[in-house]
Amino acid sequence: MDALAEACERVASHAGRLAKVAALAEYFRTLESDEDLRRAVQFLLGRPAAMAPAVSNLFETVEAPKLALGYAVIRDALRAASGWDDETLRVCHREVGDGGETVGLIMAPFTAGEPMSLERAEQLYLQLHAMRRADARVRMMTEIFRTYRPLTLKYFIKAIGNSFRIGLQEKMVEEAVAAATGKSAAAVRAANNRLGDLAAVAIAARHDQLDSIEARLFHPMDFMLAKPLEDGAAPPEGVEWYVEEKYDGVRAQAHCDHGAVAIFSRGMEDVSKSYPELVSALGRVPGSAILDGEILAWRDGRALSFTMLQQRLARKKLTEAMQVSIPVVFMGYDVLYRDGGLTLDQTLEERRAMLEAAVNDAASDRVLLSPQAKLADVAEIPARYEAARENGNEGLLLKRAGSLYEPGKRGGAWLKVKRAFATLDVVITAAEQGHGKRATVLSDYTFAVRSGDQYLNIGKAYSGLTDAEIREMTKVLRDIAIGRYSRVLLVKPQQVLEVGFDGIQKSPRHKSGYALRFPRILRWRTDKRAEDCDTIERVQELYQSSLNLTPNRVGDDA
Ligand code: AMP
Repeated sequence: MDALAEACERVASHAGRLAKVAALAEYFRTLESDEDLRRAVQFLLGRPAAMAPAVSNLFETVEAPKLALGYAVIRDALRAASGWDDETLRVCHREVGDGGETVGLIMAPFTAGEPMSLERAEQLYLQLHAMRRADARVRMMTEIFRTYRPLTLKYFIKAIGNSFRIGLQEKMVEEAVAAATGKSAAAVRAANNRLGDLAAVAIAARHDQLDSIEARLFHPMDFMLAKPLEDGAAPPEGVEWYVEEKYDGVRAQAHCDHGAVAIFSRGMEDVSKSYPELVSALGRVPGSAILDGEILAWRDGRALSFTMLQQRLARKKLTEAMQVSIPVVFMGYDVLYRDGGLTLDQTLEERRAMLEAAVNDAASDRVLLSPQAKLADVAEIPARYEAARENGNEGLLLKRAGSLYEPGKRGGAWLKVKRAFATLDVVITAAEQGHGKRATVLSDYTFAVRSGDQYLNIGKAYSGLTDAEIREMTKVLRDIAIGRYSRVLLVKPQQVLEVGFDGIQKSPRHKSGYALRFPRILRWRTDKRAEDCDTIERVQELYQSSLNLTPNRVGDDA
């Protein structure tokens, strides 16, 4: 773990992607045992041993499940190990902006500085993970803080949060594995796509066994992603495009093997239990297959709104009544594997033919085929978009003729055409420092809508402003600060943002009683005053319209 922490520091110190990959590859080469290579890769991906992979819930992207070690446990252990009081620790954490780094800095004068192997780090995680009682965890963390090197502690804690925040994506870890083992990045990536376990792929690469890695059914693979096509823009010329409607449901990968079925979410989670009727319908797909598609709430031949599906999924226990009142279908749009072999390298048209056959053979009204047409002329796009909206769908997906299925890629072979569901002008009520390079600026904003002369929080957003705007906003917000609550700076409601979002739902999380789906900042409205921002009544209207079966675009003129 000490060497891994040092390697992470070197990776973090390089701005360029190539230099980061090279630094990591150099570290991988020093690892003698396969077990250590496995552990290192798992730590780097934020998946210390035996922890489940990332999940995403429907409404927001959620980071991978955390070893439920809240801030309180770390703070209590830090207090016990360092002797500093809570207030000092809070100020330090606030200024540093990162839990791991704070621990490393605070503990520097107090630790015994003993080495920590990767094996030891893994044991510690597993022990912490298995502990139920907070006081036992605090005792154990205190001991850890007192024992190991500050830099190691920094990354040990960061890994608990499942992210090292050193600008390393899984693809770069793949490239480093390739460089360290003398294999091509494409071969490592392809093997990782088949297996979905980069640690095991790294070991296979080292032993020259990449080719023997077979795709495994019931292990989710990465999904191919779509690139947004800007409003009104035309897709690249000189190639042909197919067009499908863009469904607003839950992306799903169905693994079918002679009647056995598992359904995985985009977060690679097995969600089969939520859709018993789809499990049995997909069990009718003959042979073996991995199908890519969307789970939709569906009635009378059309999709119900995402909010309806969300209502069904929000229930802890799926009742029969729910299954009847909110029926679901699997809308298939691709196939990744068929009867013993991957189909990723076959063309869109070839895969489509296989998909059609699989769906037809299943002969179930719950397993549907996404209608597809050749786009004769880009001028058709606006009318097709409107038709998709009329059908209750979100927009369009354009798929390039002859393209391959590229797991995990947003390469442009798929283009999505959609517009924000609506926009709102909201006012900032609180702000927080970001992480990594945004640790010194206020980049995460909590915002509110107006209710009479009050402001009720409705969401949080941290993307959309430029770095220069964030710096400027930081100054402005510091000037209008009215208090602080832990890392959160409370500010006078003055600064107005225009936010776009994909949907709206009821939520006890915010004072307004609503939450926005995927909010992003469109503009800093320096021309507006807080009184001019949107009201709770408008939010209620938008919510009502989102319940309509046809989620027509609302708020175009907002
Ligand atoms: P977005 O979720 O906005 O990034 O848009 C891309 C997503 O659209 C994909 O990841 C799928 O979940 C979803 N999608 C909806 N309809 C289709 C379709 N017909 N083909 C492919 N992806 C689709």
